[in-house]
Amino acid sequence: MKKIITGVLLASSFLVSAAEPEFTAQQLKQVAELRTNASNSDLSYQLLESLTTEIGPRLPGTENDKKAVAWAQEKFQALGFDKVWLEEATFPEWRRFSESGKILTPSEQTLHLTALGHSVSTPKDGITAEVILFETLDELIAAPANSLKGKIAYINYRMNRDIDGNGYGPAVRARSTGSVEAAKKGAIGYMMRSVSTAHHRFAHTGGSHYKDGVTKIPNVTIANPDADQIARLIALGKNVTVNINVQNEDRGQGTGFNVIGQFNGTQNPEQYVLIGGHLDSWDLGTGALDDGAGVALTMAAAKHISEIKRPKRSIRVVLFAAEELGLWGAKAYFKQHAKELDNIVAAAESDFGADVVYGFESNVSAQSLPVVRAIAKQLAPLNVQYIAKNTANGGPDLIPLKNATSAPIFDLHQDGTDYFDYHHTADDTLDKVDPEKLKQNTAAYAVFAFMAADARTTIKPKPAK
Ligand SMILES: [Zn+2]
Repeated sequence: MKKIITGVLLASSFLVSAAEPEFTAQQLKQVAELRTNASNSDLSYQLLESLTTEIGPRLPGTENDKKAVAWAQEKFQALGFDKVWLEEATFPEWRRFSESGKILTPSEQTLHLTALGHSVSTPKDGITAEVILFETLDELIAAPANSLKGKIAYINYRMNRDIDGNGYGPAVRARSTGSVEAAKKGAIGYMMRSVSTAHHRFAHTGGSHYKDGVTKIPNVTIANPDADQIARLIALGKNVTVNINVQNEDRGQGTGFNVIGQFNGTQNPEQYVLIGGHLDSWDLGTGALDDGAGVALTMAAAKHISEIKRPKRSIRVVLFAAEELGLWGAKAYFKQHAKELDNIVAAAESDFGADVVYGFESNVSAQSLPVVRAIAKQLAPLNVQYIAKNTANGGPDLIPLKNATSAPIFDLHQDGTDYFDYHHTADDTLDKVDPEKLKQNTAAYAVFAFMAADARTTIKPKPAK
């Protein structure tokens, strides 16, 4: 027993003091101090509580969205960031006013539903029609022309639960384009099972798209227990008729802002580590998991770093606008900075809830892997494993960056097992966030960003294809 304890002590003191080619013993001591400070601080939780309580939901273009921009500016300033600024982003603005639904036959019952983003409205008294069930989007696509005339198409695809959320992508296909495929077959409405793993009766909203030249039909998801109910009725051979009533508004082009805070580097301030999340959220909950947590923990991580020292390169926190309506803030940011993308020495977005970070993965040049491994070693005490595949994806707001250039991207993989129970629903609220797990996330981001910004050599991306 005694031996084991000695071993642990030796291991931890080794982490604190032994120099690496990329980091001096002094730097590693600072990393250890940073990790401890961030692990013990409730700053990220305080920020998240403030954002979700004092502002609440942050649908792009709304008054709340504007208030969130002012909130972020004020918080960055209060936290002592060296530079705080706004960059404009435009997006197609949309509002939800009311929504309701009913199963009418074979037996009347309430349907818990929500409109997908950009859905058109139904007539004032809704649409009433028979439901035609498909298990997948491909089944709907294969349906004969005109076979859905006057009907409501319904896709019953069930997403699977997994730690990395791999069920989401396949399920989202039906959300993005299902209504277009349904309208092509003559349907007057489109309905789908929520893209979610939940058992509750909150329907999941999300982005969807119409296509020019195809009739825009009302586009809704239903809560999973209601989806089961309809599937059971249809399996019994019943003719299921529903009434859907959603009132929304397309408001043309809206304007919002990316809010950016930076601690300047001491040696190469033009080079920076980019961390952040998206400031907007859907309107149903308060966007605590998606993505208040990412906003709060990256702001706090940068603040904790600044309390240790200013690293060689800058730490930039970017809070992207209008992600939920189609990555509009990210598109604007990477367009505006198109000529200086190689100043980004590392980029990671936190946008996967608030559960623990379990894995650390890079997507960088082979020469930069020693820096990555040195960072991974300092994340290990937080129970973060090194994933050596070097194929990190970054978050959604980094997609425009990846499309523009080969960039050094990192994933701090979060446990997403329960994320899709709450994501995009009225149930995405602060009580779902475990303050202890948020501390671990904050510490992981702080250690990663500090080391990437203060390494002896600059991290480089993989060569462009
Ligand atoms: Zn998100």
